[in-house]
Amino acid sequence: MNTKLSIGIVGVGKIARDQHLPAIAALDGFELVASASRNAQVDGVRNYKTIEEMLAAEPQLDAVSLCATPQVRFDQARAALAAGKHVMLEKPPGASVHEVDVLRSMARAAGRTLFATWHSRYAPAVETAREWLASRTLQEVQVRWKEDVRRWHPGQAWIWTPGGLGVFDPGINALSIITHMLPREVVLREATLSVPANVQTPIAANLDFVDEAGVPVRAEFDWRHGPVEQWEIVVRTSDGELHLSEGGKKLAIAGKPVEIGPEREYPSLYERFHWLITHGEHDVDVRPLRLVADAFLLGRRHEVEPFHD
Ligand code: NAP
Repeated sequence: MNTKLSIGIVGVGKIARDQHLPAIAALDGFELVASASRNAQVDGVRNYKTIEEMLAAEPQLDAVSLCATPQVRFDQARAALAAGKHVMLEKPPGASVHEVDVLRSMARAAGRTLFATWHSRYAPAVETAREWLASRTLQEVQVRWKEDVRRWHPGQAWIWTPGGLGVFDPGINALSIITHMLPREVVLREATLSVPANVQTPIAANLDFVDEAGVPVRAEFDWRHGPVEQWEIVVRTSDGELHLSEGGKKLAIAGKPVEIGPEREYPSLYERFHWLITHGEHDVDVRPLRLVADAFLLGRRHEVEPFHD
């Protein structure tokens, strides 16, 4: 990362503070020079309320990282590309599938990098699991992605509104892993969405997929889980079971723990963004978001008790 790129961060909320700011600060390849957020500021940089103000005042900026809620992703990305910036998108890359395709075309036309990030793909177990599964005969896949919404999303009203995805906000992380890790494409057959009576998005979902060879892939997403998260994927194969747990921080194959590297999802994302920019490339994979859209298309909705934070 010899070239130092100036970057602005947009939407300074939980994930920007927890992960993006420390990751940028720890890398040589980027220098954070500005932020744009209506209600927050970042120490030591020039702060603006909106991305439009930031873009107007910072013509030298190379790149922006969009960390706000998915419902505003398209307008912010569109503005940044129109101003000639390289753009990194938090997950999910948009509130609809098509808007991401449009952004990809805009980025190509502008000759700028668009990076739709899936941070869970950079969890340390994922690549080792993918390599092991590549030559195996799969029999069944079980995904369990369960957590307590009050612990992980306190006070975040946007997750319950259209485009906020509900339980698919974490569930899409599991989908980003399976679309990368499994050797074949998966297709959704049926879905059940449990939607609290007073909100617009599901608090739980059961999904039945098959892969191209007909192998069943079942996923359970639930936000009504106890204090210990369950973020795991179990793949039964003719050579034994692969067990990815803790969101990809742990891996066991045929009952034996596998040595994997340390967790560094967000530093890896920024290294990748730097590489994409300096090589004139894009990385935009909409498949996880498309599977969520399919769940909303095919899912049977049933009403469950109202949710109160
Ligand atoms: P958050 O804490 O609610 O922060 C999002 C920020 O977006 C808010 O602080 C707000 O900043 C800005 N924003 C909200 N509505 C806006 C609007 N209408 N116009 C402009 N800005 C607006 O949410 P978060 O947890 O950081 O999640 C943000 C994104 O990161 C989501 O897509 C989520 O899926 C992803 N993500 C979150 C986590 C996590 O652990 N929380 C992990 C990985 C990825 P201002 O009010 O200051 O403008």
